[in-house]
Amino acid sequence: MMRWSTLLLSAPLVLALNVAGALPDDAIALNEKASKALAEGRPAEAVLLLESARRQMPHDEVLKGNLAWAYFQRGQNRQAAFDDTGALSDFRLATETYPSEPGYALHLTNLALQQYRLAEALSAVDEALELHPEHAQLHLLRGDVLNLLDELDGSVEAYERAVKLGEGDIRAAAQEAHARAARQANVERDYASHASDTFLIRHPQGTDFLDLLTGLDRARVEVCQALDAWPASRALVVLYPPDAFRAVTGTHDWVGGLFDRKIRLPIGDTQSDAGQVEAAFRHEFAHLLVSERNPRCPTFLNEGLAQWVEFGRGQGLERLVDHLRAVGMSTDELPRIEELPTSFVSVADRGQVMLSYLLSYAFVDYLVEHQGSGAPLRWVRELRRAPIADAYAAATRRSFERDEEQFRESVRVALGH
Ligand SMILES: [Zn+2]
Repeated sequence: MMRWSTLLLSAPLVLALNVAGALPDDAIALNEKASKALAEGRPAEAVLLLESARRQMPHDEVLKGNLAWAYFQRGQNRQAAFDDTGALSDFRLATETYPSEPGYALHLTNLALQQYRLAEALSAVDEALELHPEHAQLHLLRGDVLNLLDELDGSVEAYERAVKLGEGDIRAAAQEAHARAARQANVERDYASHASDTFLIRHPQGTDFLDLLTGLDRARVEVCQALDAWPASRALVVLYPPDAFRAVTGTHDWVGGLFDRKIRLPIGDTQSDAGQVEAAFRHEFAHLLVSERNPRCPTFLNEGLAQWVEFGRGQGLERLVDHLRAVGMSTDELPRIEELPTSFVSVADRGQVMLSYLLSYAFVDYLVEHQGSGAPLRWVRELRRAPIADAYAAATRRSFERDEEQFRESVRVALGH
């Protein structure tokens, strides 16, 4: 996602330092020690050494560059160890120490955004843009931040800048984001807002959407209790008439809700659709809890957990088996968990989508039955630093292969062949 070519150059800067010969012996020795500590994966030690060197030479650019790189490495280690607050503080130190490298500000903004610290994300990206006004990726991120702050027009403008300045993947991403934000701005222009401690809800004016609030708040507490997990941030919810929902999200007509850091839900009649909206909300709210723990969580686990929250405990196997019977599929034809598509929404074949959802749900349900309701979110977190099977082992102390085999066996038994 990020490009690090300029940053990678920072690592061997010891050479430049020797050539320059401007530092006192002490600082050179400290810098060399720090370089060794970094190479051996001990950035916290490198930070201390470089901070001490920098006290001798506070204005040396090479030392500043190396120290920033060490802060950044330490931040990445902290992020991998689930210390997001520590990581954020290190990315901030790296940005302040060496502001001419925009990569640090990108990481800082991204992480603040992921934690929904929107004011901090906005000030980080704005400060970076003062130094790097032509940086497409910074404008793209600024668009994301403004979008979450509900400044849709500002967000459209930021994406527009990113399209103008960007190339390749960045430009393509900016074009897509721009089109999406423009549709939102158009539809939501006159929407009313309602804020509480736990929600920010946007909805068409003149309709009685607030009746729904009690139900949504209850659903929210139930989900948090079921998973013993509480969100770090307010849930941003946008309620649309069904046609507007399709126009904004561009999704297939079977999609009953969307999470893109905002929870977007279609609703026809506030009275008769209340139950359905509540169920859809539970599903999308689970995606919010997952996104705070691991924004790149694999789809099968994300969707499996969301359905577990939506439909409840103990129904996964039954639903899957009913479906397999209806389509005449045997257990042997069932895909492996790791073979499931990386995105379900973009799959056009409805049968394949349904099977992927049901299989994901059944497996998460099976996991909860055997390992408790904390297991899926622990797996979500571990997936930040390990592939599927290793993360599973770290979260459950069990073998993924063996458990998947046992799961398939239970499907086979329930199916009767
Ligand atoms: Zn979903």
